[in-house]
Amino acid sequence: MSRIVRKMLQGQVFHVMSQGINREYIFEQSKDKEKYFNLMKKYTKEFNIHLIAYCIMHNHVHLLIKTEKIDYVSNFMRMVNGKYAIFYNQKYNRVGFVFRGRFKSKVILSEKSLYQCIKYIHMNPVKANIVKKEEEYEFSSYKDFQKNIGICSIKELEEKVDLDQIFFNQDFELEEDRRKICAKEILNVYLEKKKITMEQMKGDLNIKKEFLKDIKRRGIDKDINKVQLSQLLGIARCSLYKYLKKETFSALAPNVCGICECINKDGLCKKCTNKLNEVAEFGIEDMDLKDYYFERLIYIFNYEGFIRKLILDYKFNEKSYIYVSFVNFILKNKKIFQILKSYDTIIPVPISKKRMKERGYNQSLLIARNLSEYLNINLCTNCLYKTKNIIEQSKLNKEQRKQNIQNVYQLKNKQIIKGKKILLIDDIYTTGSTVNECSKMLKIGQPEKIDVLVLAKD
Ligand SMILES: [Zn+2]
Repeated sequence: MSRIVRKMLQGQVFHVMSQGINREYIFEQSKDKEKYFNLMKKYTKEFNIHLIAYCIMHNHVHLLIKTEKIDYVSNFMRMVNGKYAIFYNQKYNRVGFVFRGRFKSKVILSEKSLYQCIKYIHMNPVKANIVKKEEEYEFSSYKDFQKNIGICSIKELEEKVDLDQIFFNQDFELEEDRRKICAKEILNVYLEKKKITMEQMKGDLNIKKEFLKDIKRRGIDKDINKVQLSQLLGIARCSLYKYLKKETFSALAPNVCGICECINKDGLCKKCTNKLNEVAEFGIEDMDLKDYYFERLIYIFNYEGFIRKLILDYKFNEKSYIYVSFVNFILKNKKIFQILKSYDTIIPVPISKKRMKERGYNQSLLIARNLSEYLNINLCTNCLYKTKNIIEQSKLNKEQRKQNIQNVYQLKNKQIIKGKKILLIDDIYTTGSTVNECSKMLKIGQPEKIDVLVLAKD
């Protein structure tokens, strides 16, 4: 079967947006939004539509739809919008168009963009300053995801939409895969640590599952080369995606606090928020440009007490999931949130391939990626590289650090950062020589500015 035919059979996912005419408010009251929701619900079946996510705002709607053909989307939208227009005109005693022309639609091409799109849709009312948190908004599918009930629940999605089928075999994914972390290296380190041989693993599904769990726990499931991984483990790529997918979905609504591990939907509980608030600094320092290549340093904590312990856990004891809590905490601060929104590119301080192999993840990348997803800012991981593995900076004094770090970073694809406002991310700031050396390299690409965000300042 040709690829195009297969694609049509398996369906596609569309992000659909429909706006009120002249950007007018077309859902003035909760009752109006309810009406629209009920119309959607009513016609999904008839038009062969699976609604993955939605948000009904005051003057527009966002829908994420899985369907076989774009025609079905057109028919569905025509019906729902048409019925709503009649209702609206009657209720408010008006005539004429309610919606602005044809709806806009965009095909979603990868699982990653699917998650980003769901998040984007749910964040709409937060960005419009209607509510503080996604869950406070009544007319979006966020609650369905969180409680796993309703037409847009994860349960529905898993049962009715075969995402593997939709996104499987897409060429660009293979292209993307080539740039990912080498699965063999990660696997070898794991086998060595657990003292098992490749043969033992190959013959035991449970060992394989343990290994996959370990990958997810360390947050590298998205970055590992899955083509390679499926070959190594002898698991079909379809099944591998399916297995790794389960937790990716729950990551949309994380359910434990990363710090105290109590049950919590935000990944950070009230008690721990208060605890962090007591010690948080939210410091902003302007740098002396005679000595530094970046303009501003933003730090959240001082590197001491239990913060120090948390960061060490995060860095060395494989508790990589704490980063979710940290990022949630950072974004709760209004001032910092506004500042972070002003950048257009986020770049994590890279670690060397060797270190990545040992640790299995780059702690700065985990923070950077999460921030980029929440803030909808471009994450750039293909311009700054660490080409040498050096002595750990923490073992050296200030002068030695400066020497040690020189010429270990390399800039590639420099055109992509030209004129950009860059936020460089690291976990701990001590003498600043690491981020300064990174900034020095980034400067070559002529960005508009470079600022640095770290979790803690020593
Ligand atoms: Zn907690």
